[in-house]
Amino acid sequence: MIGNIPKDICRKPSCHAQILIGYIPTTKLDSMPTKAGRCRALANLFHSCMWNILGRISSVGESGLAMMSRDGVWRQCHPIFSVFVGDYPEQALVTCTFNGRCPKCLVPHAQLGEYELFPLHTQRSVIDRYRLADQDRRQFHWTCCEARLKPIIHPFWETFPLADIFVSITPDILHQMLQGVMKHLISWLVNIFGPSAIDVRCKSILPNHKILLFPKGITILSHVTGLEHKKMCGILLSLIVNLPVPGGLDLSRVVKAAHALLDFLFLAQFQCHTSDTLSWLEGYLAAFHNNKAVFLDLGIRCNFHIPKLHSLLHYLSSICLFGTTDNYNTEQSECLHIDLTKNAFRATNRKDEYAQMTTWLERREKLQRHSASIDRRQNHLQTIWTQTPIGPPCVRAQSIKFAQTPSRKAVSFPDIFWKYGAPLFQDALADFIVSIKNPDLWLHALHKHAGNVLFPFRTVQVYHNIKFMAPNDAQEPEIVDAVHVRPEQRDKCGWIIPARFDTVLIQGSGQSKFLLYLHQGLDLSNPFSGYRIGQVHVVFKLPDSAISEVFGLHNTPPKHLAYVEWFTPIPATPDPKHGMYRVSRLMENRHRSASIIRAETIIHSIHLVPQFGPVIPQDWNSFTVLKLCNTFYINPFADVHSYLTFTR
Ligand SMILES: [Zn+2]
Repeated sequence: MIGNIPKDICRKPSCHAQILIGYIPTTKLDSMPTKAGRCRALANLFHSCMWNILGRISSVGESGLAMMSRDGVWRQCHPIFSVFVGDYPEQALVTCTFNGRCPKCLVPHAQLGEYELFPLHTQRSVIDRYRLADQDRRQFHWTCCEARLKPIIHPFWETFPLADIFVSITPDILHQMLQGVMKHLISWLVNIFGPSAIDVRCKSILPNHKILLFPKGITILSHVTGLEHKKMCGILLSLIVNLPVPGGLDLSRVVKAAHALLDFLFLAQFQCHTSDTLSWLEGYLAAFHNNKAVFLDLGIRCNFHIPKLHSLLHYLSSICLFGTTDNYNTEQSECLHIDLTKNAFRATNRKDEYAQMTTWLERREKLQRHSASIDRRQNHLQTIWTQTPIGPPCVRAQSIKFAQTPSRKAVSFPDIFWKYGAPLFQDALADFIVSIKNPDLWLHALHKHAGNVLFPFRTVQVYHNIKFMAPNDAQEPEIVDAVHVRPEQRDKCGWIIPARFDTVLIQGSGQSKFLLYLHQGLDLSNPFSGYRIGQVHVVFKLPDSAISEVFGLHNTPPKHLAYVEWFTPIPATPDPKHGMYRVSRLMENRHRSASIIRAETIIHSIHLVPQFGPVIPQDWNSFTVLKLCNTFYINPFADVHSYLTFTR
């Protein structure tokens, strides 16, 4: 691929921003007798193949080459080798460094775990050693050994103009963070707290659009994928908060170290950075190193000589040079490997497959080009590749979306009470109707008027989910969040699907004066004073025929309404031990406080984590805990929205 294609297109394999230019043989050279000789020969073979594929860059990189762009115009192009995307063994192979060493700098193996930058390898400093290959072979081997580099005969990048292979090595979220550092962190935490203590908490994690549930626990899984590790990181902090450490040691340093690594992971995946976010990235790495000694004290580790942990030190410089990490994550190339290699191989008869695979690919590319050309002509999409700037990291603009038709066309008031768990529905609806007709009424007067409201209908239309859409450069808006609001159901086989009433973040403005007063608390020092958390029990619409009678002709009521049970206001500061905000159920006259609100004021879903005590009750599970537990923490690591809103 080339670097000037917008990343919204690059990251979708279906947009074909990357093309395959060659296969590299996977031979193991089994006929060679010694292992060392075999390894050397394989490394030399790899570099020789890469030279065959990319060698022309040496001659045309600086002088340029005429190439035709998509619009049919010939341009003078300068192909430059800028970034190498690969996992750790591939990085070591390409840079000719040894296993257990950093492919970018001269850090000694015994100091891989330290928070310290070492002098970098530079292509200029090693190139003279590799040029000796054609002269004195003994001296060539000796000088490479001295520099702790593999003696490769002419590495493929030797003559590339304006390139430095050591700089080209980029961070890799999938292998370095998710399948590397985070995998280590999870195993350390499991070692400290014990698998049963962690797994039992997994069973009581609330479902959410952005959360993957692990009902049997996270420690029993084998072959965990990158995506599963990513989803584990979303709930990891909630699994260890307030857990007792065997031996009564101080837990705070473990939580601080885990929190810092989770923060680093979240920030490293931002799709846009400012100098502030980059300085936080550095700060979180420092915070981990300041607290990592706790794992030594607990006897979990005896050292931190882990190349992947060291690689985090190079993230900042790579992001400054090559942009955010999603530009060079190996997740994309892994995906392309399935498409361009595995699928191509499956299309052959497994005999002399190479020629068949290349023919298959060539035909497929022609078909794709042809269909893209037809698409362009039919849709007149002249400017499909214009890129809109993303701007600094922020809560992405997303819009709420309801289904065209309701999930249930007529649900009676008793059903709303019993099946949807909304006992105060009629009272709350009466309050809401009065507050729309008389927006200036205060609490006492409002309740008095509400007693006289009569409903000219006995059923309402009910919606079982709300979706949130975000604009997307390349294609149609995508679903980024969803809220489920449905009673217990049975599937086709008669199995019970438990009821699910999600929790959401609600905006205070746009509500009636009475709600604002009741829930905002008028505390201006609190950054969350305009926002509240609620559990949605019913999303509904009143019958069209009754609207003018209920609200009067001059008031235009909102289309979709929601019945929510409130939580206490979000405190101004988080819990100092773990940095999560605590909320509880709000009670009013021994009932859960509830109101009816405009559904458009729901901003996004919120993932709450129950406040676990030393013993977790037997009847707690993902679908009962919201009913049975009273106090919760807001999970900041559920997704980027929550992270940006609820971190210190
Ligand atoms: Zn390094």
